[in-house]
Amino acid sequence: MNQDCIFCKIIGGQIPAAKIYDRGGVYAFLDIAPVNKGHALVVPKSHHETLFDLPEDLGREVLVALKVVGQAVMTATGASGLNVGMNNFESAGQLVHHAHFHLIPRHAGDGLTLWTQHAYESVEDMQKLAQAIRSAIG
Ligand code: 5GP
Ligand code: ZN
Repeated sequence: MNQDCIFCKIIGGQIPAAKIYDRGGVYAFLDIAPVNKGHALVVPKSHHETLFDLPEDLGREVLVALKVVGQAVMTATGASGLNVGMNNFESAGQLVHHAHFHLIPRHAGDGLTLWTQHAYESVEDMQKLAQAIRSAIG
């Protein structure tokens, strides 16, 4: 529990939230400012800042929750699609520093566009970056 963390406070019941799931080490509740109604946040109960801090066994529990809650959100909202997203670090738009996954129900023609795509300068440019990433993986 991190005293300054809004999600720790929600999990601890100190701040009210529309809870939808509470099993094992994972908790889920509705986002207060939904992209679409039913937008849910799936969070580990223990405080970890980003994906890179999440222990693998907890990650497995989170995956189970993403599937259970994701299916339920789709059923309850009548959505035909679902986006799963995670922002890590401020430059990626992470505002709350307690790792969390967004489940966003989607409807055909709802007009949401998540990101703009670009082109590489050349195939060589793309291959060079792929090589750098392979090297970083080791
Ligand atoms: P991030 O940008 O960090 O990935 O997303 C944080 C999300 O938490 C935002 O979508 C925001 O609307 C949601 N959020 C922030 N504060 C609260 C809160 O007090 N209650 C709930 N239910 N959601 C919150
Ligand atoms: Zn926290």
